[in-house]
Parts: sequence; structure tokens; C-alpha cells
Amino acid sequence: MKIRVQNLEKSFGREKVVDDVSFDVEHGELVALLGPSGGGKSTVLRMIAGLESPDRGNVFIGGRDATLEPVQSRAVGFVFQHYALFRHMSVRKNIAFGLEVRGEKKARVDEAVDELLALVQLDGLGDRFPNQLSGGQRQRVALARALAPRPELLLLDEPFGALDSKVRLELRGWLRRLQRERGLTSLFVTHDQDEAMELSDRVVILSRGKVEQVGTPEDVYDRPATEFVASFVGSSNVLSGTISKGSAATGPFRLPAPREAEEGRDVRAFVRHHQIEILGPTADIPSSSSVASARIARISRVGWVAKVELELAEGQHLIAELPKGRIADLGISEGDHVRVLFRDAAVFVDDSPADDYAI
Ligand code: ADP
Ligand code: MG
Repeated sequence: MKIRVQNLEKSFGREKVVDDVSFDVEHGELVALLGPSGGGKSTVLRMIAGLESPDRGNVFIGGRDATLEPVQSRAVGFVFQHYALFRHMSVRKNIAFGLEVRGEKKARVDEAVDELLALVQLDGLGDRFPNQLSGGQRQRVALARALAPRPELLLLDEPFGALDSKVRLELRGWLRRLQRERGLTSLFVTHDQDEAMELSDRVVILSRGKVEQVGTPEDVYDRPATEFVASFVGSSNVLSGTISKGSAATGPFRLPAPREAEEGRDVRAFVRHHQIEILGPTADIPSSSSVASARIARISRVGWVAKVELELAEGQHLIAELPKGRIADLGISEGDHVRVLFRDAAVFVDDSPADDYAI
């Protein structure tokens, strides 16, 4: 069941925390709402669930305008960060709760609970109480409970936020399979970009109440629409410069200027670590304006990656990352002088103070 969020707005006091937010979640899709803490993600999710009402804008669920509908009639399953399980109830009772409230017959409830316990791989643990479970198990019970009334939408607010990293990784893969199997339209809030990138079909990036970009994980990583996205997703080298004769002059490099950039404007270029190529001494040097000389200040090896710290003639440092084997192929070591090439860069006209985007 498709979700459409249109021009949503919400203020608390004088602070507008959700500002003209629009996006769609297609039927069967898993979309991540990603952004820094305090950006308005939970508020958007709560407005879709009906737990909060927007000041302006609409929420459409499966084509109908649900903006004014009460929570109960939205057929939405909700999972929160802090497993809000009923502590005095067994796992079975927790999962059965929503069905019993609806007055379903006992045999029908038992059958549904057995099926859900199997689905979340907790068969045999139905009689335990929440405090007899691990964090990951509790969160699976919360998910089973959300799924019990057979919702058509699943909304998850940092569901793995309180778990340690190994369990988080397990549950991610597991949620993804479950979501696919059931074809559940899902919207997932997280501030963890790895989680968003790994799990979702598409990502909505939200900062200070505004949508910065909507796209596939690849889109937002490879083609950031705004400076915020370039700095928030992944890590990059950042170079300052100005628009001069139609290109962006940053240190020794001349990079393609953003469209409509006026002469003389300040710019910032974001170059990912893997977008820097180190040219060996025998390499054909392409006649490119994005080649410059650098000294290798340091090489460190982590896992299969070599991280190379380069020092440009002007003293600026850049980080390049390449597969460890490439270092040997190139025959380079610390102290050598090499040439470096930017394969790609995202360049933005700079109209905000640098401190905002410290990486
Ligand atoms: P996120 O989930 O991205 O961290 P939230 O949607 O929780 O962001 O919060 C956005 C902003 O709105 C924050 O500044 C938060 O303090 C504020 N806020 C959220 N809910 C309320 C509320 N019920 N009353 C007042 N302020 C709130
Ligand atoms: Mg939140």
C-alpha cells in the first residue's frame, strides 16, 4: 500500500521542525528516512502513523487521504527504538495483544501467534517474559507484535538503535528478508547511514526539517544533490575554491563548475577517497586539469584498503583510498612524489559558513 506525504509541516512552539516535506513510498518498497538527530524524522513518521497531526499538508495511504484519520483506522504497524513490550506479559501475550483487543477468537489468535513466533524465529520462547530475552530477541517480539494485526504499512523508528553492532547487523539482514517476503511497504527512520544504505530501496535525506534529496542509496552517494548530502553521506576530501573562467579552481585543480555558478563565487568541492587516482611514474599523464603533484606523507593499511595521505604543494592534505595491492603495483612508498588525478568530484557553490559542514 503506497504512502504519499505531501507538503507536510509541523511546528512545536515557534520552531518549525518539519518544513514542506514531500515524498512517496511505493507499494512493497522499503524507504529509509535518514538524517542527523533532531532533523524531524520521528515527527514525520508519527504524522504518517497518526500519532501527531500536521499543521499543514497531507498523508495519503493507498490513495486515500488519511490526514485526519485516527491511528486505529490507518492499519499501520509501528516499531520503536525502545522495545515497548508489556513487561508483565509473556511473549505470546505481547504478540496476541492487538488481536485480542480486536476480539478475535482464541483459536485464531493462537494460530496467528504460532505463525509469528516462527516468522521471527522465536519458536519455543513464547512463554518467556521480556526480561528473559536478549535485546535483539525483544526487538523481534516488538516486530511480531506490530505485524500481528496484518498491517499494510510498517513504520520503524530507529528499531535497532539500542542494540549492539553485531546484533544490529543480524537484524538488518533479517528485517530485509522479512519485508521482501511479506511485500510490506515500509518506512524506516535511522541516523545511521550504513543502515540506510544497506537496507533500503530508496533514501529520503532529511535535515533541519527539510528534504535534501530523495534517491537510491547509489544516487545519494554518487550524485549528492546538495552540499549537506555530500558531507553527510560517506566521507570526502573537501577543497575550497572559486569560480574562475567557467570552472571551479580549487588549489591546483580546475574542476567542472556547477551549472549557473557565477564568476567569482566561492565553491567547495567534495572528492571521495576512492575518487582520487595515484598515477605511477610511468603512467601516461592525461591532459587533464584535474591532475596535480603531491607527496606521499603516509600510507596505512586497514584490511584490504590502503589509505594514502597526500600533501599538495600548497600544503593541503588529501586522503586517497585504494586496494592494498595497488600500492605494490605502483611501487610507491612514503616520501615519494607522485601525480594525482581526481576522477570525479561534487562541486557546490558555497553560501554557508564552513563550520556547518565539518566532517
Ligand atoms: P529526529 O527524529 O530526526 O531526531 P524529531 O522529529 O524527534 O527528530 O525532532 C525534531 C525536533 O522537534 C527536535 O528539535 C525535537 O526536540 C522537537 N520535538 C519533537 N517532538 C516534540 C514535542 N512533542 N514537543 C516539542 N518539541 C518536539
Ligand atoms: Mg527520532
